[in-house]
This record gives sequence, structure tokens and C-alpha cells, in this order.
Amino acid sequence: MASKKPNHVMAFPYGTHAIPLFNVVRRFAIQAPSLTFSFFSTSKSNKSVFGTSSSNIPSNIKPYNVDDGESFTGHPKDEVFSFIKSMVEKYKNRVHSVYGGGDMMIKCLISDTFLYFVGDMADQMGVPWISFWAGGPCSLSAHFHTDLIRLSIPLGPNDIEGREEEPMDFIPGLSFVKIGDLPDGVLFGGWASELAVMLHKMGLALPLKCLPIGPFTLTSQNLSHTHDDPYGCLTWLDQQKQTSVAYISFGTMTTPPPDELAALAEGLEESGVPFIWSLKDHLVSQLPDGFLERTRNREFTAPWTPQKRILKHNAVGVFVTHCGWNSVMESIMAGVPMICRPCFGDQRINCRLVSDVWGIGTRIKDGVFTKEETMKCLDMIFSEEKLREKVGALRGFAKHAVGPKGSSTKNFNTLAEIVCEV
Ligand code: UDP
Repeated sequence: MASKKPNHVMAFPYGTHAIPLFNVVRRFAIQAPSLTFSFFSTSKSNKSVFGTSSSNIPSNIKPYNVDDGESFTGHPKDEVFSFIKSMVEKYKNRVHSVYGGGDMMIKCLISDTFLYFVGDMADQMGVPWISFWAGGPCSLSAHFHTDLIRLSIPLGPNDIEGREEEPMDFIPGLSFVKIGDLPDGVLFGGWASELAVMLHKMGLALPLKCLPIGPFTLTSQNLSHTHDDPYGCLTWLDQQKQTSVAYISFGTMTTPPPDELAALAEGLEESGVPFIWSLKDHLVSQLPDGFLERTRNREFTAPWTPQKRILKHNAVGVFVTHCGWNSVMESIMAGVPMICRPCFGDQRINCRLVSDVWGIGTRIKDGVFTKEETMKCLDMIFSEEKLREKVGALRGFAKHAVGPKGSSTKNFNTLAEIVCEV
């Protein structure tokens, strides 16, 4: 009988990276209860994944904490960059400390795609490497083709010289993407930051076979801390008219600058649209004086919302979003059209898909909230029934993909043959 070797899983501990990876590993662990899965991430990240919903966690997944270094009080970006700088050693040391330097009896290594060095670790151990990308395929393609893009568009790393609207038509599948949509650090936005260097190395290390197994929002369990409603958002929504409310959230990492938040608030106020806003406490002071009092009878703000449940509520008619991949997928699965205000990373490509390719939303003109533009976009979404129909059609494709005969299910089964075979 073949020995039951453990699978090692290495998560990237920031943003919304660890939870989608955990959810896929959870599916493997349920399918193969006799195998073990060691889940490596920082203590903070492991706490958020494993901390609150132990009843949903198969006993064959064990968390292991990777050193998260010094404690940071400054900008979250500094913490991420500092972690990236020393992450290779941190993961390798932790894996060795758990399994011993000489013990290479591992079945396979599964890692967040950001952790490019795991490919070399897997080579040295002679085991398969499964690299997990939780975002969309177009941004992944942009990272994969970074060197080709830099060679084909010979510009400095900080300047795209008015060429933002030129199409990326020399890369198959990206002809709808414009130069200005590229993730930061691929062509512009600096090539030397820790993040840009990591993404470049990631693009070079990517394996060639790609198995789409999303959308994860349809295949994942809901971890209780993201699903709970401690502020009563859903009770408030229950009191609103069908398809009348704007839901606003810019995800876990970004917020538009203060002048734009103020302009968005002014647009919401003038439009008369009821709204529910995932707004961190420290940002409330950036809203115009008296704004929340004046809109009291039609607003609800909370520092955290159960977003998936909010989007599915029939009162919600539009999502004002930064276009994080999870947010876009959740909005599609709930049938809600979007107003896009992308901030960084893959969000500009995601926005291009939503507005120009799929036609299920609109973008804020010039990428900057003004009072007038906010009102115009709200008016457009609430009056265009066609957008809602198109989102519904996309949702249908996604549901089919994760159904018994769908492509996502088939791809997952192919992957499970590598990971779960006992
Ligand atoms: N989210 C939530 N409530 C909030 C803010 C965010 O549940 O108040 C969740 C949202 O449902 C999504 C994730 O956080 O699953 C944000 O992921 P996304 O990829 O959209 O953006 P990121 O935070 O990675 O920029």
C-alpha cells in the first residue's frame, strides 16, 4: 500500500489570499480524509482562517504559523513589503522545523501563486507543485507575459506617456485590455518595489498548465466571521424597496482618497438613492460635514458588512466597487450590476471586463469620483434593465461551470487526482 504522505500548503497571508486557498484545500481534505494537509501562514492569517469556524474545518488540515516578523503600526503596505523581503527564508525554515531537514516525504506542495519560490522547493523534493491563483485569468496572463510586455512597449517603468488607451493586442486573450489597465509593476508603477519584483519572479516561475476551478464564491463555504451580521445590515436592507439600494465597498486593502470619498458622498446625497456603505470608522471623518445626519433616513454605514449576503439581498440594485476579483465574482453571482472605481493591481483589468467586455456595469469617468459622475452612473445603472439581464446570463454560465458536468468541476477532479490519490 502506498504511504500516506502529507500535502504542504503555503498561503500568502495578506489581503484576501488565504481564505480562497483554504477553501480549495478544504475540498481536497474532505475528499481524502486519510491524507493530512499542513497549512502554513502567519499567526494572524491562520487565526482569521481557522479561528472562528472550527466546526467547518476538517481535522486533517493543521495550521502552522510562519514568523510574521516585527509588528507594524504604520501603513499596511509597509508590513506586506517587509514580509515579502524575508518570506522565502520564513517559509523554508518553518517547513523544515515542522518536518525536519532530511524528511522529504511530502506528496505535493500547494501554494499561493505569489510564493514563486515554492516551485524550486518542489523540484528539489521531486514532488508536484500546484500554484493557486485566486484572481482572474487576464491579470495572471499580464504577469506571465511581463518580460514580453516590457520588450514590446519600450517605456520607462514610471511613464506610459499618454499611451494608456493603446490595446494589448499582441498577447492572445488580452486584446481588450489597454496599456493603462495593466497591473502596477508590470510596465508602469515602478519595477523595483518588493511587490513588483515578487510579481515578476512569479510570472517567470509560473507552471504552464492552467486549470480554472472557480468561481470560488460558488464553491466555498462561508466562514462565519465574514458571513455574520453584527451591525444589522440585513435588517436595515429588509426595510428597503426592491432593487433600490446602492451598496458601496472598496474591499479590505484600499480606499479612494478623501476628496473622492467626499465627492461620492455628495453624489449619493444629491441622487436621493438609499445606500449601505462598508466604511471603516477612521474614514467617517472624511465625509462632508453633516452628511450622515442629512441622509439618516436612507443610509446605513458599518465598518464591516457580510458582503455576499448583502449583494444577494433583493433590495440591492447596484454595487459601487473597487473591482477586487472576489467582489466582482460575488456581484455577478448575486446578479448585481456594478459601478467601478478601480484602485490598483488587477482592479483596472477587472473593471475593463465588467464595463467594456461583459457589459454588466459602468466605470467612473477618468477613474475619479466627482459628484456629477457619481449621480450619472447611479442613474444609468438604475435605468438600464439590460445590465441586470446580462449579469443574470453570466451567473448562469458560472453555475453551469460548477455543476456536475461543468468545466470547473472537471478541472477540480483532475487536480484532486494529483492531490488526493492515496
Ligand atoms: N468583504 C466583506 N465585507 C466588507 C468588505 C469586504 O465581506 O465589509 C469581503 C468581500 O465579500 C470579498 C472580500 O472581502 O470577498 C474582498 O475581496 P476583493 O478581492 O474584492 O478585494 P480585496 O480586499 O482583495 O482588495
